[in-house]
Amino acid sequence: MQIVYIYLNVVSLIIISLLGMLSFKNRDEQCSKYFTYSMIFMIIWTLGTVFELSTHNFYLKVFFRNVVQFGMAFVSISDYWFVVSYTKSENSVHRAILCIFIILNILSMILLFTDPIHNLMRSKIYMLESNGDFDLIVTSTYLGAFFVQIRFILFGFATVLLFIHLAKIFRNMRKQVIMISMGCLLALVLLVAQQYWLQDHGFSVPMSVIMCIPYIFISIGVFKYDFLSVSPLAKDWVINSLEEGIVVLSKEGKILEANTAASIFLDDFGYMLDKNALYNIYNRVEDSVHQLKLETASGIYYYEVKIHHFLMKNGKRGGGVAVIRNITEQMVRQHELQEKAELDGLTQIYNRKTLEREYGALKNGSTSIMIIDIDKFKQINDTFGHPTGDAVILGVVEAMKKCIGNTDLIGRLGGDEFCIILKEGSTERCQDISNQIFEKIKFQRYEVACKLPNIQVSIGAATNLEVETIPFEDAYKKADDMLYTAKQKGGNCCVIQ
Ligand code: GH3
Ligand code: MG
Repeated sequence: MQIVYIYLNVVSLIIISLLGMLSFKNRDEQCSKYFTYSMIFMIIWTLGTVFELSTHNFYLKVFFRNVVQFGMAFVSISDYWFVVSYTKSENSVHRAILCIFIILNILSMILLFTDPIHNLMRSKIYMLESNGDFDLIVTSTYLGAFFVQIRFILFGFATVLLFIHLAKIFRNMRKQVIMISMGCLLALVLLVAQQYWLQDHGFSVPMSVIMCIPYIFISIGVFKYDFLSVSPLAKDWVINSLEEGIVVLSKEGKILEANTAASIFLDDFGYMLDKNALYNIYNRVEDSVHQLKLETASGIYYYEVKIHHFLMKNGKRGGGVAVIRNITEQMVRQHELQEKAELDGLTQIYNRKTLEREYGALKNGSTSIMIIDIDKFKQINDTFGHPTGDAVILGVVEAMKKCIGNTDLIGRLGGDEFCIILKEGSTERCQDISNQIFEKIKFQRYEVACKLPNIQVSIGAATNLEVETIPFEDAYKKADDMLYTAKQKGGNCCVIQ
């Protein structure tokens, strides 16, 4: 029978060596190094078993049994550190545990190899012959059993760490962690079963053979799903190179993590934000988008903050993520387009469309409309040229602006025709503003290189308009009729209805 076990051990030796070579080949990958160590100690363990089975010499059998124990002890340590490193749990606690177990195992090896001198580890050891096979029968002392059990503790720690890790990682990495966890759990179960149950029931296949199975699981996990080094690094790189700021928020809305863009944003503008700005947005509503306008010495910046909540099974918030995007360029362009659509290109006062819209939004009151047209403007154009005509238009607008109040609206209807809407526009006020316009235009400075004739305008006004029932077109028509009358009178005057 022992010859069969020797062959099985040789097969397992080949498998373990191949797994060892595979992990050595990938030694640059995070924590692969520790898996290689584990395979080296497995090889020592298996070789020890082969030699123990091959020899009939009692002392050599004892020696190789000790070699087997050495392999087992350090396999558990390598496996533990492999898992600590794989789950990125390296910290002072785990380092302390590692040191304690290394010291304990070195101590156990010293005691084991010198046991015949003091008999602290084994109370009985003898060779039993049955059917031509020579088996070594060992009865451990409590101390001996203790040193065996501490290996199970390490396998137990490693398995727990893997299961905790499993609950935290990304879904695409789960397959890998599950494979590795299964391998560790299987190794733990097999070791405990062999120690306390299998041997007592006549199952004597060497452990070095059975342990191949968990290591095949772990190797498939490690090398088939090649996420060890690439995936976390790739994830970090992608997140940090995004232009959008990403902030991970805790259940309470506190900042847990921020990528590079978010850190820059918080460094530059954090002092301007309300201390709880993100917290407030997080707490206010469901998934939502907010705009922040930040006025700094170097200009106005616009940011968009998009919040996504992670809900727990009971529907409560379990945390969230905020995506912060600089939308300054987009907002500036939007404002420019809006202005372009609303304002007259030359004078930067409202265009006809905007005036109509604004008029439509008014409520009934003493609203008045004034239409102002430059007298004999064609002549100015013809005599001095179009650019001079433009300068006159700008001057007239400048003059008119000085005559109206904050609530009044001014726009250009086209050519040399303008419109003023007075929300509070009695006949007297219309008359008053008209007089002011005549006066200001007379003394307005025009940005021209030639000597201009006197610039004059004619004004037609319609007062007391029921804006809610009279559309802009009708109101305009009324005022335009008055303007016509003013022109008929020779211009430079105002006619009010
Ligand atoms: P009236 O006293 O009856 O108003 O005579 P007018 O010469 O002013 O005649 P009208 O108001 O009809 O003339 C408007 C002129 O304004 C016609 C057009 O050539 C000129 N015009 C229209 N848009 C512009 C512009 O943007 N710039 C310049 N320089 N001229 C313009
Ligand atoms: Mg005119």
